[in-house]
Parts: sequence; structure tokens; C-alpha cells
Amino acid sequence: MKLLRTCREVAALVSQREDRELALRERLSLRLHVLICKRCTAWEQHIAFMRQGVDAWKNYKGDGR
Ligand SMILES: [Zn+2]
Repeated sequence: MKLLRTCREVAALVSQREDRELALRERLSLRLHVLICKRCTAWEQHIAFMRQGVDAWKNYKGDGR
């Protein structure tokens, strides 16, 4: 498996990370790519933001009505 990924591959990894544990190699290549790619940094932050939103929604108990 090559260490340098394309943006397309990295975007897929970032999405998959929500559903499964990534292998060390995958996490490493993701980190390396994000270091040099602003676009994927933005994408990763977007996903992290979305996840926070989903967590907040899951934890939402409502006000009892
Ligand atoms: Zn990229």
C-alpha cells in the first residue's frame, strides 16, 4: 500500500473513519496528506463538525414533551 494518497482516497478514508477503525498505515497516510493539502484539511474538519452535530442529536433527550 502506498503512503501518499490522492485527495479522492483521503476523502474516502475520512468518511470510512466514521464507520470503522482505520489501519495504522491508513491513519498515517491520512495524516501525511492532510499536512500538505488544505482542501483535505477542510474536508476533515467538515466531517468532524458533522459528527459533533450527529452526537449532539443522538444525545438530545428533548424537554419531555
Ligand atoms: Zn487532498
